[in-house]
Amino acid sequence: MSKKIVFLDRDGVINKEVGYLHKIEDFEFINGVFDACVYFQSLGYQLIVVTNQSGIERGYYSEDDFHTVNNWMLKQFKNQGVDILDVFFCPHGPGSNCDCRKPKPGMFNQADDKYSIDMENSWMIGDKEADVQAANAAGIQNTVLVKSGHTIDETNSKSLFILDSIEYVKTAIKN
Ligand SMILES: [Mg+2]
Ligand SMILES: [Zn+2]
Repeated sequence: MSKKIVFLDRDGVINKEVGYLHKIEDFEFINGVFDACVYFQSLGYQLIVVTNQSGIERGYYSEDDFHTVNNWMLKQFKNQGVDILDVFFCPHGPGSNCDCRKPKPGMFNQADDKYSIDMENSWMIGDKEADVQAANAAGIQNTVLVKSGHTIDETNSKSLFILDSIEYVKTAIKN
């Protein structure tokens, strides 16, 4: 049986957007994120994080810095009863030709290749239209944008739901 996944963007969805976050002391979990993830697990979803990390190519921080923050984040999730199946990150900048930087669907496709995912019954929660575009291009139509990170153009968004934050996601994802 193929897995159904809730894909989570990181900055602005899991943690408060601070711009090129790369230090544990700057990492602040958004209210309700653990509860939401426990809820997704109770519905039979597994969780995957997909995150653009262009600060690496820009030289603002290293891949090691990313992993340090990431491992710490995963530990906090674990402590709250949340198992993150995997984390995919794009270290490239906007000028690069990679296929992983959202709005390209590469990270979602990598996840599908690795875990054979039921994309039709999966969800993506992001805070930028690029997150929605990437998900749609990978065959995920169930999308939520949260307003905790960037400004969202609500009239032109292709997102199925637009919510104030992940705290309210139970109103969108019900089964
Ligand atoms: Mg984001
Ligand atoms: Zn990339």
